[in-house]
Amino acid sequence: MLNVDLHCHSTSSDGLLPSTEVARRAAGNGVDMLALTDHDELGGLAAARAVADELGMRFVNGVEVSIEWGGLQIHILGLGFDAENEALTAGLASIRSGRIDRAQRMSAELEKVGIDGCFDGAMRHAENPSLIGRSHFARYLVECGVCKDMRSVFESYIVPGRPGYVDHRWATLQDSVNWIVGAGGVAAVAHPGRYKLSRPELRRFLDEFKSTGGQAIEVVSGSHSLENVTYFSRLAREYGFMASRGSDFHGPGESLVDLGRLAPLPQGLTPVWEAF
Ligand code: AMP
Ligand code: MN
Ligand code: MN
Ligand code: MN
Repeated sequence: MLNVDLHCHSTSSDGLLPSTEVARRAAGNGVDMLALTDHDELGGLAAARAVADELGMRFVNGVEVSIEWGGLQIHILGLGFDAENEALTAGLASIRSGRIDRAQRMSAELEKVGIDGCFDGAMRHAENPSLIGRSHFARYLVECGVCKDMRSVFESYIVPGRPGYVDHRWATLQDSVNWIVGAGGVAAVAHPGRYKLSRPELRRFLDEFKSTGGQAIEVVSGSHSLENVTYFSRLAREYGFMASRGSDFHGPGESLVDLGRLAPLPQGLTPVWEAF
């Protein structure tokens, strides 16, 4: 059985390791096929691929596109696309362009509850400033002692209904799928178990995802429970979606699941990597 990991992050977005180190660590963990899927950014792919080639590990171009659907932030993975495709690269640039303004608004909201200096503090954690995001804010809030760890940041701050959260316009579902499929890739719903959607809402989302050209869902994920895996296996079969497997690794000490250290896909599913 191949060890495939099609979801992880580098310092090109909100991971802690450079993309070359992510590839090296994956190979060291016995990964046979890796996709680097930075948020809204393709900048780490070429260097990671060079390391993967050198180490004899298969490498698939990836990205995790931030979209808004039904008032929620949802993530769509793009896998196996042409990274030079202009509509895709322009689309991702358009998503990135709002992040600095959003970070300033987040910082202003945190100031209202007495936490100063968050914009500069978060920026110090962002290797790629155009990708400034909530993880960088979370690392700063831990660093300055406001919260004891990342988990408590995402319980008390920067999530809907809590200080520091601001609404933001991301891409639409249709745009994200068009960009990915138009560049020759496969669109997959990232960690479907993580969204605050009721079962009927989730089905409405998956119907729409499928009708726009989406073909896969993550079944085995670093953020899925066993119950999630069972449930999303069932939905993958029912909808005729290919199934993906990804750790969503962001960095040592921060992510519970390391690269490639995941359960295998359950039987009876079509692995998305058969397409690569
Ligand atoms: P952004 O794209 O700026 O909205 O940031 C989203 C990122 O925040 C995700 O990709 C995760 O890396 C991180 N994140 C969101 N929720 C949590 C959580 N509950 N625990 C840890 N990290 C989270
Ligand atoms: Mn992230
Ligand atoms: Mn995600
Ligand atoms: Mn991710």
